Amino acid sequence: MKEHFKLVATVAAGFESVVGKEVKSLGFDCQIDNGKVYFEGDIEAIAKTNLWLRAADRIKIIVGQFPARTFEELFQGVNALDWENYLPLGAKFPIAKAKCVKSKLHNEPSVQAITKKAIVKKLQKHYHRPEGVPLQEIGSEFKIEVAILKDIATIMIDTSGTSLFKRGYRVGKGGAPIKENMAAAILELSNWYPDKPLVDPTCGSGTFCIEAALIGMNIAPGFNRSFAFEEWSWVNRDIVEGVRNQAEACANYDVKLDISGFDIDGRMIEIAKKNAEEAGLADIITFKQMRLQDFRTAKLNGVIISNPPYGERLLDDKAVDILYNEMGQTFQALKTWSKFILTSDEGFEKKYGQQADKKRKLYNGTMKVELYQFFGERVKRSQIVR
Ligand code: SAH
Repeated sequence: MKEHFKLVATVAAGFESVVGKEVKSLGFDCQIDNGKVYFEGDIEAIAKTNLWLRAADRIKIIVGQFPARTFEELFQGVNALDWENYLPLGAKFPIAKAKCVKSKLHNEPSVQAITKKAIVKKLQKHYHRPEGVPLQEIGSEFKIEVAILKDIATIMIDTSGTSLFKRGYRVGKGGAPIKENMAAAILELSNWYPDKPLVDPTCGSGTFCIEAALIGMNIAPGFNRSFAFEEWSWVNRDIVEGVRNQAEACANYDVKLDISGFDIDGRMIEIAKKNAEEAGLADIITFKQMRLQDFRTAKLNGVIISNPPYGERLLDDKAVDILYNEMGQTFQALKTWSKFILTSDEGFEKKYGQQADKKRKLYNGTMKVELYQFFGERVKRSQIVR
């Protein structure tokens, strides 16, 4: 079977550079494109990136790429790929997804059907199975995806299974949780380091706090879940086990962290605590019911990360205006703290009463949002009392 793979980490728009950095820090060279980070590697690379990438959506193998302007070209292109190096006899291989953008071929169900046919034909020949008799699909599953962009088809196999934002610790959520990988990416974009206090004053189910604690303790985000490729019969279990053991050894459970989450809603605090407990971080994060307007601290040089209610989501317009105004008054008093606030409200700065030092356009699911960044005044390290 195959030993070296062309790989792609898929990424939400706006976070490509974050994932690129993560991929490089795992030791792989990479190229960045819209929504994608390309790299190469072996099974160990697949295991490492699935386990460690905090901000990516999925890791996929690129089986091949070729022009496909007609169904015949698609069929021949798919048929020419070395499927026998990926799909053992008996493998399940649904064509799980087809997406056509700016291309002559646009009927996605037909693209799926042709792709399936072409792979079946290839495997029938390779495994000496009679044509006309369907291949039995009883073994482990390889989800195949086809993306045709500007007449170029890319054929991929998903290695992750459930999207990587699902870490496995979320037992409860509120009305509008942020995705775990987005929370991690925002933390990575921020100027928070594990030696600084971190507060999420609208913590909801606790996502930012939990992701920060995982980063602070160097715990692999995927430690609590499994991945599709682990079920593949030809994957060397020892390699995967080795990557998991190595991750366990890397974790630093003794690091001192100062991470707190507040929410006006006591039920959310209970949910946040349960999620933290599930992640094994119950004693690490302080969750407390509190209104953000009541947040005061003598600590210096901290970071606030907040994903407050937006008009469209949780509160009516008037209540949002008042909340953002009070937020401004409360947070601006904390001069040495940096603040990162994620909202879709275009009038945010006005209501908050301060122009952001930096802004970044992002998507929360399909909703356009902006990350408003306010940097704290510098303090000398010697002034910091903790
Ligand atoms: N990032 C969170 C979701 C935040 S939703 C997650 O991943 O789950 C916004 C949260 O702000 C809600 O839980 C809501 O209860 C809380 N909230 C609204 N008004 C508040 C206030 N005045 N003070 C503190 N929290 C508030």
